[in-house]
Amino acid sequence: MDHQTYKVLNNGVKMPVLGLGVYKSGDDTKQAVLDALEAGYRHIDTAALYKNEMQVGEAIRESGIPREEIFITTKLWNDDMKAGKQYEAFEKSLERLGTDYVDLYLIHWPVSSALESSWKVLEQIYKEGRARAIGVSNCHMEHLMRVLACAHVVPAVNQVECHPYLNQKSLRIFCNNLSIEMEAWSPLGRGNVLEDPVIVQLAQKYEKTPAQIILRWELSQNLIVIPKSVHKERIRENYNVFDFLLEPADEAKIDALNKDLHFGTSPDNFENKQW
Ligand code: NAD
Repeated sequence: MDHQTYKVLNNGVKMPVLGLGVYKSGDDTKQAVLDALEAGYRHIDTAALYKNEMQVGEAIRESGIPREEIFITTKLWNDDMKAGKQYEAFEKSLERLGTDYVDLYLIHWPVSSALESSWKVLEQIYKEGRARAIGVSNCHMEHLMRVLACAHVVPAVNQVECHPYLNQKSLRIFCNNLSIEMEAWSPLGRGNVLEDPVIVQLAQKYEKTPAQIILRWELSQNLIVIPKSVHKERIRENYNVFDFLLEPADEAKIDALNKDLHFGTSPDNFENKQW
C-alpha cells in the first residue's frame, strides 16, 4: 500500500483512506465491489443492515486478491444491540462475509440502552483477534464520552455523516485529540453537494469532477472517505483523487460551505426511526 492511501489507526492497523460504500447497492453490490477492486480500492464498507455482506464476500473471493490485502468494515445493527445478541450478530456477519475476521467492526448507532454493553462485546471480539480494530459510528461527543468511560480499548474510528455542508469541525477536533480517526459517510452528501457553485467552479479550475474536488477536500481534512457508487466509471472517478491537491485558499472556500445540514438521519433522533 502506498503511504498516501492509508492511515495508521491508534492500534497500529493500517486502514486505506478511501473505500467503497455499499449502502443500498442491492443486487449491484457484487459487481460494484469487483469493479472497485479492479480500480485499486482495497477497502469496502458494509453493514448487517445493508443485507449485502454475502455479495461483498463473494466479490472479494472472486477477485483473487488475497484476503489480507483488503480492509473490510461491517457494523453491529441496532436491533441486535437491543436484543443483547451482539456476539451472535458478529458471528453471522462473519459467516455471510465468508471470512474469519473483519478489519473493522463498528457499533452502527449509539443505541442508548445498550451502548456500554455493546462496547464490552466489541472489546471481547477484538481481544479474540476476530476484528483487527473496533470503533463506533454516529457518535456525538456525549456518546463518545460514555464509551470512553467504560472502555479498556479506545475506539479506533468514529464514522459519521460528513461532507462540505456538514463538516463536523468540532467533533473532528474532539476525535483527533483522542486519536480516534473520523470517517465520513455520505462524503458526497448523497450527491446533493455536487452542484454547489463553489464546487463546480473548483472542478473547472482543477479540471477534475465535482466528486473528485469534494473527496480531495475531505482527504486533506484528514478524513477517511467511503463514497458509494454502483457505476464503474464513477467508481473509478472517485478513486482517482491522489494526483492533485487543492490550494489552501480553495480548501477554505469549501470549509465555508458548512451549514450543519444532514441528508441522512442525525444521531440526535435515530432511536425511533424505522429502518
Ligand atoms: P454518498 O455521499 O457516497 O453518495 C452516493 C451517491 O452519490 C450515489 O448514489 C450517486 O448518486 C452519487 N455519486 C457517487 N459518485 C458519483 C460521481 N462520481 N459523480 C456523480 N454522482 C456520484 O452517500 P452514501 O451512500 O449515503 O454514503 C456512502 C457510504 O457511507 C454508504 O454506502 C455506506 O457504506 C456508508 N454509510 C454509513 C452510514 C452509517 O450510519 N454509518 C450511513 C450512511 C452511509
